[in-house]
Amino acid sequence: MAFCPGMPWGAAYPNNKIIGGLLEELTNQLETMDPPAAEKRSCTLENFGPEIVYDHDIATLTMFEMLKGARVQVYLNATAIEPVMHKKNIESVSCFDRNGPFTVKPRIVIDCSGDGDISAKAGVPFTIGDHNGNSMGVTCSFHMIGVNWKEAFAESDPYFTKYTAKGISEGRIHEDLAKLYLMKGFHQDSVFCNSVHIRGVDGTDPMAVSLATQEGRRRCYQLAQFLRLDIPGFSKAYMTQLSPTVGVRETRKLEAIYKIKGEDLANGTKFSDGVVCCDNPIDDVMRDKAGMTHEAVVNNGNYYTIPFRALVPTNIQNLMFAGRIVCADPIAFASVRGMPQCMTMGQATGTAAALALRDKISVQEVNRDRLVTELTRQGVHGLGNNKLN
Ligand SMILES: Cc1cc2nc3c(=O)[nH]c(=O)nc-3n(C[C@H](O)[C@H](O)[C@H](O)COP(=O)(O)OP(=O)(O)OC[C@H]3O[C@@H](n4cnc5c(N)ncnc54)[C@H](O)[C@@H]3O)c2cc1C
Repeated sequence: MAFCPGMPWGAAYPNNKIIGGLLEELTNQLETMDPPAAEKRSCTLENFGPEIVYDHDIATLTMFEMLKGARVQVYLNATAIEPVMHKKNIESVSCFDRNGPFTVKPRIVIDCSGDGDISAKAGVPFTIGDHNGNSMGVTCSFHMIGVNWKEAFAESDPYFTKYTAKGISEGRIHEDLAKLYLMKGFHQDSVFCNSVHIRGVDGTDPMAVSLATQEGRRRCYQLAQFLRLDIPGFSKAYMTQLSPTVGVRETRKLEAIYKIKGEDLANGTKFSDGVVCCDNPIDDVMRDKAGMTHEAVVNNGNYYTIPFRALVPTNIQNLMFAGRIVCADPIAFASVRGMPQCMTMGQATGTAAALALRDKISVQEVNRDRLVTELTRQGVHGLGNNKLN
């Protein structure tokens, strides 16, 4: 959300039913504002279910309000650097902010950092990217404001390929822009552009991310010029809200008690310790020399769940992780990584942390049936023996 403002919450409705939990609470709050700040829309790309499109700034503010309501102290602009271990526990984490270094002594650490620096330094084994170490492309996104939606979306091809072929052959846009992903933004006459992908970037290397951000902005500007000149409906539009840095889809995948596999998804597996439902397609983006895939992961109407055990390391007693560092093989990863699922993984690990602290046990000892019952009580749908409805 922070790196690519305006990106829709995809995979929020497996089998057209909302996954529930904090994502549903947040969406309800936004949808019932005056004027509404979010709405459910169908995705124009094949195999993606409906998604939630929202006003980015109001959504961020609403999240801050929800955190405040839950008495969470948010510490912005601080970076966690290094864990200090004591036997099988993280005893402290060194951090820094603009005033210098400081130390946090956590009872439990939940690593939601996307990259898993702290988990990796604490000794959790990991892999990067696919079996050959190739990660998905990174992306610089932007909005065009002042688009005539009616003209722009009269086109039946959702990827605008007949236009891009001309732009590429004339050398005006990069060859990786053969398929544009342009979607109606939340606000009337705005268009969100999730198309400028840069291949082969190691998202854990700050210099590689810096270079990709500069190249991404160059390509965004070229594309914005091309949209204005070549694509109907864009002639009076202008570019805004570029990603502050490229959005990184994939870096480390941490090892956990259980690794989610492509077969688990294909079989529509509902794990007894499943913490969130999902039917997102295999959303692989420009890995190495490949293009984009959106192959369906389960038969229409079916879905799978993400097991809690994929968020719990085997070797550290007070660490869990949530989000895109979940333990998954490359196929499963391409499906499980949607924001609604990442948010709910966070809700599950937070809840598990509360249970572990209350009972003074390790995160591995948390009773998984109790966790599922508690998440169900919190409104997460389709877990345990409950149907998604
Ligand atoms: C270009 C792009 C397009 C996408 N499109 C969609 C889409 O349309 N719909 C959808 O649902 N999903 C989409 N995704 C996937 C989704 O956005 C991600 O999988 C999801 O946001 C991952 O969430 P996360 O919390 O695990 O990590 P992130 O969103 O990467 O957040 C991690 C946060 O931790 C911070 N951090 C990292 N290290 C440290 C540290 N050491 N100390 C302090 N803070 C730290 C980072 O700055 C960041 O703010 C897209 C992703 C990308 C990159």
